[in-house]
Amino acid sequence: MTKILHRTIGTTFPNAVSGDGVFITDDDGRSYLDGSGGAAVSCLGHNHPEVLDAMKVQMGRISYAHTSFFTTDVAERLAEQLVELAPDGLDYVYLVSGGSEAVEAALKMARQYFVEIGQPHRRHIIARRQSYHGNTIGALATGGNAWRRAQFKPILPETHHVSPCYAYRDLRVGETHEAYAERLAAELEDKVLELGEDKVMAFVAEPVVGATLGAVGPVANYLKRVRQVCDKYGILLILDEVMCGMGRTGTIFAMEQEGVVADLVTIAKGLGGGFQPIGAVLLSEKIYRAFADGSGLFQHGHTYIGHPIAAAAASKVVEIISRPEMMANVAKMGDRLQAGLDEALGQSPYVGDIRGRGLFRGVEIVADKDTKQPFDSARKMHSRIKKEAMRRGLLCYPMGGTIDGVHGDHVLLAPPYIIRPEQIDLIVDRLSDAI
Ligand code: PMP
Repeated sequence: MTKILHRTIGTTFPNAVSGDGVFITDDDGRSYLDGSGGAAVSCLGHNHPEVLDAMKVQMGRISYAHTSFFTTDVAERLAEQLVELAPDGLDYVYLVSGGSEAVEAALKMARQYFVEIGQPHRRHIIARRQSYHGNTIGALATGGNAWRRAQFKPILPETHHVSPCYAYRDLRVGETHEAYAERLAAELEDKVLELGEDKVMAFVAEPVVGATLGAVGPVANYLKRVRQVCDKYGILLILDEVMCGMGRTGTIFAMEQEGVVADLVTIAKGLGGGFQPIGAVLLSEKIYRAFADGSGLFQHGHTYIGHPIAAAAASKVVEIISRPEMMANVAKMGDRLQAGLDEALGQSPYVGDIRGRGLFRGVEIVADKDTKQPFDSARKMHSRIKKEAMRRGLLCYPMGGTIDGVHGDHVLLAPPYIIRPEQIDLIVDRLSDAI
């Protein structure tokens, strides 16, 4: 009998004993193609020799040094690499241990920033419905998934939500993408005015929505219009790239494709590539300066921030993903994945939409293609697809609640960037078979 409180109690899980490249093997000798990199984490696959070496070297030097006493050259180097790769305007890095921690830190930075500059009245957070920003209290409050929030709502801080940019379901008949972006920007502006034009501190969004919608990117100009609304009212823009960042969509940061730079950017998952838990917040000079010239302190911290082994792993991951051939493979394999899925599933009566960018692809499952009607949630299509895919030796990331937190199903694919053409084809075959 297990002594672990597993997430889904009563489920029997296979025992993963080894990993090699895009494959995981269990103790029965069954091999699984990791088509989702866990949850968009293992961007370089399993057991990447260069990352393992970097970690071993660091373990032989020093494994832990508390940041109230020391910095380490590996953490400093990682921060430099990230700033170097980030768009201009993101000049500093705060290291944490994962995605939720990154979101919490970004929210507290936003709040402290306004306190430091003498605007303590700014306290509201606006995010989007159908979003996921983590499971800790502040991150959960920020996320807009009704189902996840339901039982915890009484203990969550107050947050506000507007519509996501989700053209497949929300674009009106005859509406252009430009008009749609305009409509969403107007909704955000209305929400700001409703809360008070100098009362909002931050707007939070994922550039390409992962877990809750299944690789849904914004229409052209949407994020630019959001940025304009934020600027007009002095609101900080927090882009959550925990899932879509670190090369997942074909550029190191997903926001690069939108021509937008946030004030704060959260990253995690692919940053550590699954080798170590790590996350980070990238912040602008403006925010850093407010702290430096103000109290001289960011009033926040965790025991494991800047962990040397995590930093060594992440530094090597970042070095590898920033090699030109790596993003070229993401683009090429991403196109192959999309084309393969289009061909295998495009005509399926149960597939409403196939979308995404780079090696971040989503398949939306419907009961009726014309009306986009989802399956009855009681049928749990997403968990059945997950099970069927696993039986066929494929790990993918299906989720329910695509439409409103309860109804709708989608499958997210996020394989390692080292994937080869024949392995992409295997994902397509196994997934379409499972569906
Ligand atoms: N933000 C986004 C966009 C995420 O996808 C996730 C994890 N799925 C998180 C935050 C939280 O990250 P973690 O699970 O590492 O706390």
